[in-house]
Amino acid sequence: MRVRHRDGIHFDLEGGPVVADARSAVGAVNVVSHAHADHTFRSTPETVVCSAETAAIAEARTGTGFPFVERGPGVELVPAGHVVGSRAAIIDDGGENEDGRRYCYTGDFSVRDRCYLEGFDPTAIDANVLVMETTYGLPTYRFPPQEALESRIRDWLRDNDDRPLFLFGYSLGRAQKLQWLAGEATGRDVLVSESIRDVNRAIETATGLEFAGERYESLRGLSDEIVVLPSNQARADWVETAVDREGGLKAGFSGWAVDDSFSYRGNYDATFPLTDHCDFDELVATVRAIDPERVYTHHGFDEAFADVLETEYGYRARPLKRNQTTLEEFR
Ligand SMILES: [Zn+2]
Repeated sequence: MRVRHRDGIHFDLEGGPVVADARSAVGAVNVVSHAHADHTFRSTPETVVCSAETAAIAEARTGTGFPFVERGPGVELVPAGHVVGSRAAIIDDGGENEDGRRYCYTGDFSVRDRCYLEGFDPTAIDANVLVMETTYGLPTYRFPPQEALESRIRDWLRDNDDRPLFLFGYSLGRAQKLQWLAGEATGRDVLVSESIRDVNRAIETATGLEFAGERYESLRGLSDEIVVLPSNQARADWVETAVDREGGLKAGFSGWAVDDSFSYRGNYDATFPLTDHCDFDELVATVRAIDPERVYTHHGFDEAFADVLETEYGYRARPLKRNQTTLEEFR
């Protein structure tokens, strides 16, 4: 059994490769962990293993649907707590003897219950090998408890009730949580971009959740509206012009907010480390709860985090580098 990081993460099983989160469907079984753009296909594959919510959201975002099943040969999905529909995959190579291995591939994940989403539960995972994302795998990235963080955000929204507020987050994930928090904190109108409105609708149809955001017609003549926009537009000219003209304030929401440069990059008046990923301590706690024989890390601070696992916690861990084949050498 080999694990490789090529286009997506490849698990070479006897019956053919299981490939997770690739841009091209090259596996015998193809898994999509969630509907963020970097995890969906360029061309339509035959059948994908993913949740019904992920299929619905991906279709709403790309305009193309694909056939899916919620479990495949040797593959079982469990909630990953990252965005609506996100799943981790348990991949079983079917071995009955001591060589048999169970892999847990996390995709992007978060262990925190937040707003309408339940976190990933590592205590429910039985796996020998953990393949995990380590976006925030440095001790710098420790975020406040979710309750405290959400209450700080609600306070900021209430303290600034005399002007329009522009909130920035990914169209799928953060944008819905910001609408949710705005709804909890205030009775103010919430306006969203077209891309966020489309994601709202897909999630509403797939889950029965409801989001308050209305697609804005114009950003002129605002009073105290809360405007939720995609984070990649934070410094766009049309945004800066609207914020200045309307006397608004800008807030950015991301785990990167613990870096001073985050505020500068988005030209934000306020920033909050609201994230859909684990922080450093939660990554460590996940490994200790699953207690696997081997850990492979990918994304973000993969090298540094594997190093911490080896030196401080005694796990056999290594980063899964792109285009580098990893032959498992533990038996
Ligand atoms: Zn993601």
